[in-house]
Amino acid sequence: MSKKIMAINSGSSSLKFQLFSMPEEKLLVKGLFERIGLAKEMTFSYQTSDEKAEHTLPHSSHEKAVDYLLHFLLEKKFLSSLEELSGVGHRVAHGGEYFSQATPIHAEEIAKIEELSILAPLHNPVNLIGIRAFQTVLPNCLQVAVFDTAFHQTMAEKEYIYPLPMKYYRDYHIRKYGFHGTSHQYVAMQAAEKIGVPFEELKIISCHLGNGASICGIKDGKSVITSMGFTPLAGLMMGTRCGDIDPSILPYLQEKLHLTTKQINVIINEESGLLGVSELSNDSRDLVRQASEGVHQAKLALDIFTSRVRQTIAGYAGELGGFDVLIFTAGIGENSSIIRQKSCEGLECLSIELDQEKNQKNECFIQKNNGKPYVLVIPTNEELMIAREVSAHL
Ligand code: ADP
Repeated sequence: MSKKIMAINSGSSSLKFQLFSMPEEKLLVKGLFERIGLAKEMTFSYQTSDEKAEHTLPHSSHEKAVDYLLHFLLEKKFLSSLEELSGVGHRVAHGGEYFSQATPIHAEEIAKIEELSILAPLHNPVNLIGIRAFQTVLPNCLQVAVFDTAFHQTMAEKEYIYPLPMKYYRDYHIRKYGFHGTSHQYVAMQAAEKIGVPFEELKIISCHLGNGASICGIKDGKSVITSMGFTPLAGLMMGTRCGDIDPSILPYLQEKLHLTTKQINVIINEESGLLGVSELSNDSRDLVRQASEGVHQAKLALDIFTSRVRQTIAGYAGELGGFDVLIFTAGIGENSSIIRQKSCEGLECLSIELDQEKNQKNECFIQKNNGKPYVLVIPTNEELMIAREVSAHL
């Protein structure tokens, strides 16, 4: 029998939701509350297959948003009663070493997510606000936490330990965690289905290239290597994040310019990456356009971005002992044929060659021949993955 399941992604000033009918994976309605807590009012927008609307609401808190959402779902007959909602899945940024899979939420899990706020101060506390708001209104409804880090908990010690004194791992949990796990797992499973080979039998390199970007190497259905680290700042160059740099640049700048830790964090998280190098935009579309008009820094930013992607793919190929599938996903990965093309230039040595026409059309299979390695463009869908995880716990 069909069950209705909600996926929630709660941010500091936003709350996104998608209501699915499972197991048929039908999206019934999705929407977003914005400007929560920023002013007296918040905005609410939603979308179904044939309707789209936006309202301003007189209240502004996560609790009020959840209240309004449930009333809206009843009024619009997406739910006949609140009991019809079988479960709610919450995206949670950091599961630390506690959580290697999605987990039903009780007091013990809440305490652990709260404890892990020290590792994800911008995300875990606001994820908890969403969880608590639903618990208040629906105390008997199954709630499941789906962690961005969980998929990467299968990495071997040699991948997650940093070459720092071990006491910092022991005392302060400094290690690589990796993020975007739900997205990497989803697109990798989708790719396996499209190719028609069990997920566990493929070696996969998944490139999630959005404003945030990371790459993951997958073998035997498990994450074995990934580019984000202790935080989502590490690895690839991103929209405004620098990715990997020589760590001694930071104390050098801090001392030279008398910067606070907060100021340093702003530079590396908000002012770097595509935006920092181009001094124009963090949006790859702007940069592709400007680069084609000959703007040097736009071209340079894209050259650095794609070179990092290429180096990571090639490195992971070595680590996995070859690979069967290369996947591109997220805003850039799904839509930018030119960035996919530039990222793959030089990878002919790994038998990667793109079919120009298929690549330009954003087709699903974009490799030149029909054989391996397959190169796929797969739209990510973290919300559906969350709904699947809730379904599995029912
Ligand atoms: P986030 O990490 O914020 O979820 P997204 O996955 O939405 O980021 O990706 C944002 C990036 O995707 C931007 O750099 C944007 O330029 C790029 N992008 C989005 N749509 C397109 C498109 N149609 N063509 C090319 N690039 C696109």
